[in-house]
Amino acid sequence: MAKKRNLPRQQAQRREPPPDQPVSAALSDLLRVPSGPVDLAAIDTRSTPGFTGNKAAGQQALAALAAPISELQERLFAHGRTGGTRRLLLVVQGMDTSGKGGTMRHAVGLMDPQGVRIKAFGAPTAEEQRRGFLWRIRQALPGPGVVGVFDRSHYEDVIAVPVRRLAQAGTIEKRYDEINQFEAELVESGCELIKVMLHISREEQKARLMARLDDPSRHWKYNPGDIDDRVLWDDFQRAYELALQRCNSDAAPWHVVPADRKWYRNWAVTRLLVDRLRSMDLAWPNAEFDVEKERERLAAT
Ligand code: AMP
Ligand code: MG
Repeated sequence: MAKKRNLPRQQAQRREPPPDQPVSAALSDLLRVPSGPVDLAAIDTRSTPGFTGNKAAGQQALAALAAPISELQERLFAHGRTGGTRRLLLVVQGMDTSGKGGTMRHAVGLMDPQGVRIKAFGAPTAEEQRRGFLWRIRQALPGPGVVGVFDRSHYEDVIAVPVRRLAQAGTIEKRYDEINQFEAELVESGCELIKVMLHISREEQKARLMARLDDPSRHWKYNPGDIDDRVLWDDFQRAYELALQRCNSDAAPWHVVPADRKWYRNWAVTRLLVDRLRSMDLAWPNAEFDVEKERERLAAT
């Protein structure tokens, strides 16, 4: 614990995270995928679990989280800079146009970029293909005090890969256990893990893809290959359901965030981050010098 007498007044006051909007139940519990078979169709993509207000209220609630998330992340960063080894990894999965990029901007973007490492995973390179599928994932894990964010992840290897028939069934079958073991070890080593699937409807995806085609400033985001995946929508949903079911341990549970409403998606992911960072209960590091003596030295200059 920090020695309070060593802290200047301003820092001492900052020891408690600022208040923000309470939720009735932990959002993490509301969004957590229950154990057993997963039925994504039963989860309303327009619903807003844990939030009763409208869009304006949601945007306000998100704004109210900006100060808490910033402070909590700074504590984690300070922890890493002073010899601590804890860290956090947010894994974001979702169909094309589900809002992975928007989540990076609006939720992850509330944190200080110095302490955040975003890694987007595309189709593996030739070198990555020669290694095990977790190799590139391990390379990208956050260091001490850092918030790592994966835009797609090792889950592509049990979702896109089987749907596009890029590997043998036997190879894919082994990956669920490999993922569970990898994630259990990661958590055991002191890395907090939040896994989020952004869940949109088929109709919403169509509308978002059409909006990209309608707007020349968004053509760069449009990928004709997205239609090929869209045709396989049901196969993708089944692959997601299987991944969510089979890699949903207590150590590394899955959350499904209804994502047709962008404001809810942004608020919910931010809230999950804030709640988890707060549960880490990180104090500001102790000064490794005599504050009073330094104050006197400085005053004398
Ligand atoms: P985007 O996120 O829109 O830039 O697209 C990245 C593409 O890379 C998606 O189509 C993913 O399915 C694909 N991808 C990512 N990881 C893998 C993987 N391990 N194997 C095959 N495809 C992947
Ligand atoms: Mg894409």
